Amino acid sequence: MTKNPPLLTQQEIYEQFKIKYSQYSPDFELLIKAGQVEKLNRLVREKNAVILKHNYMSWDLQCDEVLGIRGDSLELSRKAGETEADIILFLGVKFMAETAKVLNPKKTVLIPSLKAGCSLSSSIAGTDVRKLKQMFPGIPVVAYVNTDADTKSEVDVCCASGNASKVVQWAMKEWKTNKVIFLPDKFLAQNVAREMGADIFFPNVSADATTTTKEFALRTKHIAPKTPIFIGWEGKCEVHEKFTPEDVDGLRHDFPGVYIMAHPECPPEVVKKVDFAGSTGEMIKNVTSPDVQDRQVAFFTECAMVEILAAQHKNVLQVCSIQKRCPHMAQNNLETVIEALEKMQYKITVPEDLRKKAELPIRRMIAVK
Ligand code: SF4
Repeated sequence: MTKNPPLLTQQEIYEQFKIKYSQYSPDFELLIKAGQVEKLNRLVREKNAVILKHNYMSWDLQCDEVLGIRGDSLELSRKAGETEADIILFLGVKFMAETAKVLNPKKTVLIPSLKAGCSLSSSIAGTDVRKLKQMFPGIPVVAYVNTDADTKSEVDVCCASGNASKVVQWAMKEWKTNKVIFLPDKFLAQNVAREMGADIFFPNVSADATTTTKEFALRTKHIAPKTPIFIGWEGKCEVHEKFTPEDVDGLRHDFPGVYIMAHPECPPEVVKKVDFAGSTGEMIKNVTSPDVQDRQVAFFTECAMVEILAAQHKNVLQVCSIQKRCPHMAQNNLETVIEALEKMQYKITVPEDLRKKAELPIRRMIAVK
């Protein structure tokens, strides 16, 4: 049996914080934060918990000094399904914690705040998916993992931003069709469709089924037989929708030679203009790629991810004018996270019938390489 290494003391954590993160907090606050991290780590050990930290956490949660695993939605879903800890404390938003519960139902899954929602997951529900399936029978339904268990329970396969086009190709092959219903992120659908040379149709969901299917038939009549066709939904990420092509131009003007990366939840007009688009995990990996070398790097994504990267890589820009913070992700802080373990709150529950139905599309997503 492997023995756990000794926990860092407040003083040891404080020394590390002073070296790495003094640009973010005054000295006295670094010391307070170090004490909170020491307490949090002790609780993690005592309760046999694992902390899963999404890349959008602030530096004082993402840092290596806080015990846990860092990653994007796909990586953390994999980890959630594999862990042997008794408790999964998910530092992210509710749909992520729900995904962990669906994959590992015997574990206690906690989230520090029930206010941590997501504009994408709240843009759609299971009833909407049922309606779409009636309008477009036989067409596979791919749902971005940023959906709740109710929506997931009605779809065929989930995807993350890092494997969306692979999942769509897999679904088209399995269902032997060139069409796919892709939910709920409008911009991710447009970006993936563009990458695949696909046409995209956004149905008028308030119209009756006959009108919508007629419109679809008309729209797709002249498309070459093998061209992939997406049927999309109008959901948007309230953070990434704010980035504009003018932001890209402005940044290139102010920082000549800058290498810009964007999350594919950004509008396609933005994604077209940047140097690289990918999931948070892919963007982080790309910072050290030969394409970047010593160029200054900027990110069009949730700004907390930039905090930790700027502390690790001197060429990463902290450009305040383009920074955006997700109010849902920001519900996670050292106070709410410690309280979650102390009070064992807030427990995620998913009714068993819903859980079983939501599990297959998530497992299919994880299996697509
Ligand atoms: S950043 Fe956007 S997609 Fe992510 S949780 Fe916030 S609102 Fe949802």
